Amino acid sequence: MTNALQIDWDEVTAEIVATLTEYLRIDTTNPPGNEQVAAEFLAERLEREGYQTEYVEAGPGRVSMRTRLAGSGEQRPLMLLNHTDVVPAQPEFWEVDPFAAEVRDGEIWGRGALDMKSMGVLELLVMLLFKRLNLTPNRDIVFLAVADEEAGSAFGMEWLDKEHRDWLTEPEFALNEGGMGSLNFLGSQHPVFACSPSEKGPLWLRLRAEGQPGHGSTPHADNAMDRLVRALYRIQEWERSIVVQPQTQEALHRLRAGNAWPKGAPSVARLRQTYPTFSAITQNTISNTGATSGFKHNVIPADAEATLDCRLLPGESHDAFIRSMKEVIDDDKVEIEAVFQSESPASEFQTELVNVVEDVVREQIEGALVIPSTCVGFTDSRVLRRHGVHAYGFVPTLMDASLAAGVHGHNERIPIDGLNTGIQILFEVVRRFTAA
Ligand SMILES: [Zn+2]
Repeated sequence: MTNALQIDWDEVTAEIVATLTEYLRIDTTNPPGNEQVAAEFLAERLEREGYQTEYVEAGPGRVSMRTRLAGSGEQRPLMLLNHTDVVPAQPEFWEVDPFAAEVRDGEIWGRGALDMKSMGVLELLVMLLFKRLNLTPNRDIVFLAVADEEAGSAFGMEWLDKEHRDWLTEPEFALNEGGMGSLNFLGSQHPVFACSPSEKGPLWLRLRAEGQPGHGSTPHADNAMDRLVRALYRIQEWERSIVVQPQTQEALHRLRAGNAWPKGAPSVARLRQTYPTFSAITQNTISNTGATSGFKHNVIPADAEATLDCRLLPGESHDAFIRSMKEVIDDDKVEIEAVFQSESPASEFQTELVNVVEDVVREQIEGALVIPSTCVGFTDSRVLRRHGVHAYGFVPTLMDASLAAGVHGHNERIPIDGLNTGIQILFEVVRRFTAA
């Protein structure tokens, strides 16, 4: 057990806080990313304690970094994956400077505090602790800090997939962002740790309507904007099925069995109504995200465009979805174009790594539940899963669900005690999983 290793977790947490605050002050807003500075920051800490690091550069400043702790080689490696870039912050909506990494009331504030510089630092500390404790794992532990996750990974994982595929096919297992610990997940009375073997597939569509231009004083039936508005309305009214996939069924089963809702389990309909994320993992979703048309107040435009952010459940065919949407729109003068899409197979949930996750979480947090969850966003795990790597979204920090919802939002922050829990669980998972 970790006690036998005599780790002072408060001291480790203090080191995490010091490291994370410094790391958050490195502005890696993507675009432009400029991840080189972040990669060097992490590498410097690893090299100081005897690690050798490797860099690759996908474009100016678009640097990813890798290091490894050599194991006995009995098994294929475990990868600890994190991305170093962050989404833009709009400082005018924040209570603090998003890149000052202020510590207030036991929380660290800053862009990337949740997504995902905190996990990057937890993974870093796992590497450092293994070295300091002189532990030899039964497989290599590979630490990979990548660029450009937030803008589609063309300078990160997708680039590695083209230029250094061996980096991605080498591990058997990987831990990454995509699932977190929550004190009140779906209203649960027990702490719940989401471990995510799958994610929804993004399908970004552009609708383009064409029609006859004309004078605004004389309406006619072939107005491009009318066509677009009609199409968007039909899409909104489109009744798509609600699907409780086996994995979500398993999650609900575990919540019920673990007595997460002592006053009685809510129905699927009720959960969908109350929790937008639950709604999103039980349906193919569509968000209207943009529309443009027209150039003069009294001119009927010849064309109109809209952008839709669709997210499909794991295993759903993107082509079939587009065909159905075409039928729903029922207008030959409205075209659908896929501008970005990614389908990702799910990893198996019942593996030896998830077994260890379940054991460790239960031992360390009384009454805690581990559930499989479908990540509503897409992560770099999709690229690993394409190559058959068992990749899990598992960030074992523990906090209130309202804080966890701050990913990509204003006033993103992470509680320090959540980091303390997180490092203890993550370290023990990796230690036990790789114990000879
Ligand atoms: Zn992220």
